[in-house]
Amino acid sequence: MPSPRPTMTPYEGVTWYFDRAADQLHLSDDLRELMRHPWRELKVEVPVRLDNGSLKVFIGYRVQHNGARGPYKGGIRYHPSANQDEVMALASLMTWKTAVADVPYGGAKGGVQCDPNELTQDELNRLTRRYTQNIAHLLGPQRDIPAPDLGTDSRTMAWMMDAYGQLNGHTPAIVTGKPIELGGSYGREAAPGRGAVIALETWAKLSGYDLKGKTIAVQGFGQVGSWIARLAPELGCTVVAVSDIRGGVHDPKGLNVPSLLRHAASQRTVIGFAGAREITNQELLALPCDILVPAAIDQVITSRNADAVKASIILEGANHPTTPSADIVLGRKGVTLLPDILVNAGGVVVSYFEWAQNVQEFRWPEERVNRELRAVMERSTQSVVNRAQEAGVSLREAAFQIGVERVARAIELRGFV
Ligand code: NAD
Repeated sequence: MPSPRPTMTPYEGVTWYFDRAADQLHLSDDLRELMRHPWRELKVEVPVRLDNGSLKVFIGYRVQHNGARGPYKGGIRYHPSANQDEVMALASLMTWKTAVADVPYGGAKGGVQCDPNELTQDELNRLTRRYTQNIAHLLGPQRDIPAPDLGTDSRTMAWMMDAYGQLNGHTPAIVTGKPIELGGSYGREAAPGRGAVIALETWAKLSGYDLKGKTIAVQGFGQVGSWIARLAPELGCTVVAVSDIRGGVHDPKGLNVPSLLRHAASQRTVIGFAGAREITNQELLALPCDILVPAAIDQVITSRNADAVKASIILEGANHPTTPSADIVLGRKGVTLLPDILVNAGGVVVSYFEWAQNVQEFRWPEERVNRELRAVMERSTQSVVNRAQEAGVSLREAAFQIGVERVARAIELRGFV
């Protein structure tokens, strides 16, 4: 298989990882052709009347990558650089992630090219409703179930549920990541971060790696990153740096995470946190620390900066934060990389629990959600570590092998090929 190019689009990058797994598994040409491309792609105009009276037309996407294992499942991203290629890449990752975690879903993703920070709550509400109406014919609690992602949250999901309900009647199971009051699950907000911390803990136990006293730097202080920063100290780790879109803060002696959370809640940024040195996002990636957690956006560790990474462990909280060429550099340096399709699967795992609760109209207590999440993350991590050892491959290659294998099996059983 050819080496990855230093610069690849997100979809080219994710497909490169898929092709490598397909080669390693000796996947047939028929299966490879079917699994490589999205099943369905929708691009829509989303006209929104802004508060100042003008009309702005946004572009939205929904990509359904593969549904062999169950209804399509994947988040909705509001970001200025959301585009078809990125949404295709993220939908493909969801296909492999749901298979690695063994939840009964396929993979999808959606996005609207917009800057949510520049829109008012009323404008975001109108945008979400119009986007939902325009993709509603693809959605359904047994067809395609959106969730939050970068730039969207439980409130966005409440608006989506309401817009879908206006067309189809009250349907809580149409989205996950909803507010608790509207059928959301306890533990969903913390789930991707909690799952990431469980994956790290499980990997460390299986590898004989002592996490006590290890330092950790987290890029991104949103839903995923802030929960990793909150929970990592329970493993004995010290959080030495965090960042958001405006930059980061660093204290080699350790940041007080509860105070930092209060600061970020009131200032809407981590910048200005008392006693810490300000750093850029690029500096954060190259800080001396044991564990680096990219938990913001994709393609931040590239062939240009991979050599500068000093951490010996990378925990991928974000989706596709590492390009294939950087992956190879990190592998050569001996960095252990716990991959996105395993690490951040806790989000979709608890989304599955939320959907199951909605379908059964029965609520689980938080203790049950967290216990079942732990069981799934431990089992998934164990299977990835075992495969890596048995096949003599990296943890990313092992995770992709497991995901691709399970989807291929479902396709064969359905009689597609
Ligand atoms: P979020 O919007 O809650 O937070 C994103 C954080 O990243 C914010 O602190 C933001 O300021 C920061 N950020 C944005 N652009 C940045 C940039 N250019 N440089 C540095 N920081 C930047 O988003 P989230 O839900 O925490 O998602 C983060 C990542 O995790 C994404 O890759 C997402 O796809 C992935 N993910 C999210 C979930 C989920 O359930 N929310 C689940 C699995 C994976």
